[in-house]
Amino acid sequence: MDNCLFCRIARGEIPSRQVYADDDLFAFHDINPARPLHVLVIPRRHITSLATSTEADTLVLGRMLAVANQLATENGSPDGFRVIINTGRIGQQEVQHLHAHIVGGPDPVGPMLKRV
Ligand code: AMP
Ligand code: ZN
Repeated sequence: MDNCLFCRIARGEIPSRQVYADDDLFAFHDINPARPLHVLVIPRRHITSLATSTEADTLVLGRMLAVANQLATENGSPDGFRVIINTGRIGQQEVQHLHAHIVGGPDPVGPMLKRV
């Protein structure tokens, strides 16, 4: 995915405020944070969304969640956090490369969703 924004960030072609990287994952501060902690964790390998992921992605999907506590703790939200994965049109996903938002405090992040 030559022109995918998050593929390019993971390759270091577009600058980001990196907070974590390993062979499979890359994590960086959201450019427009919604809470004091707002980092994005992505698979280095392009996956469009949870709507297109397959059984073959199980390991990397698990690892995205497995690093979340470390990312939150190291970046100012040691007492908990929220993970959000917007998916597709209904989930109002804007960037078409799978990413988990990890948002946190110091204050509680607020209600899960506005009730309609
Ligand atoms: P989503 O609506 O779930 O697709 O979220 C996309 C997120 O990517 C938004 O929170 C944006 O602020 C964030 N974002 C877009 N471009 C960049 C960028 N260049 N660096 C960091 N975060 C970005
Ligand atoms: Zn991509």
